[in-house]
Amino acid sequence: MSYLFTPPATVAVPVVGQSALFPVHRIYCVGRNYEEHAKEMGFTGREPPFFFLKPADALVVVPAGDTGTMPYPSLTKNLHHEIELVVAIGKGGKNIAAAQAFDHIYGYAVGLDMTRRDLQGEMKKQGRPWSIGKGFDHSAPMGPITPAELAGDVVNAEIWLQVNGQDRQRSHINKLIWNIAESIEHLSAAWELQPGDLIFTGTPEGVAAVVSGDVMHGHITGLGDLQVKVV
Ligand code: MN
Repeated sequence: MSYLFTPPATVAVPVVGQSALFPVHRIYCVGRNYEEHAKEMGFTGREPPFFFLKPADALVVVPAGDTGTMPYPSLTKNLHHEIELVVAIGKGGKNIAAAQAFDHIYGYAVGLDMTRRDLQGEMKKQGRPWSIGKGFDHSAPMGPITPAELAGDVVNAEIWLQVNGQDRQRSHINKLIWNIAESIEHLSAAWELQPGDLIFTGTPEGVAAVVSGDVMHGHITGLGDLQVKVV
């Protein structure tokens, strides 16, 4: 087999407690999945879950103990942080019932769904796709994956984000509108999940802008820290 040019390298994420890497297939994201965040975005109530994707190579993989860097992206004047629980799928499937969803989870990580909010808002207004606001290069920093059996009580974990040492977002995973299992049920009805898929499960309230030089520090109980500097 020969290729016209060198194929892109497989994007892969380190795993806590072992040397083998988690190879990434797709990145799915759940929209507006905490009530207080839905309200701050101008929506209310429990709407059916909806999804968007980021390219796998939008990941900024940050090994444990490191501070990653993401360049301030082009075209925006309003880059927002969204701290999120990331679910790593280890076993694929379609039409997965919520009751079976945890059998498909390999582990969990801390991630940031970085958003060019001004561009997303403009696309929403025009009824156009969000891709330019969500799926840009370096838009998905994440830390190492903790295998589920080492992650503790993720369902009730605290999730928070500080910027330059100041609190911006603080909530609990049990405030998800569509919980982890329900999100997998809905997502796998629309796409056949594959080992290597990542699901960014949504962000709590407190999203706001960062600028060059800011250091974001995210944390989820049991999953450690994610530190990223905007450069
Ligand atoms: Mn998000």
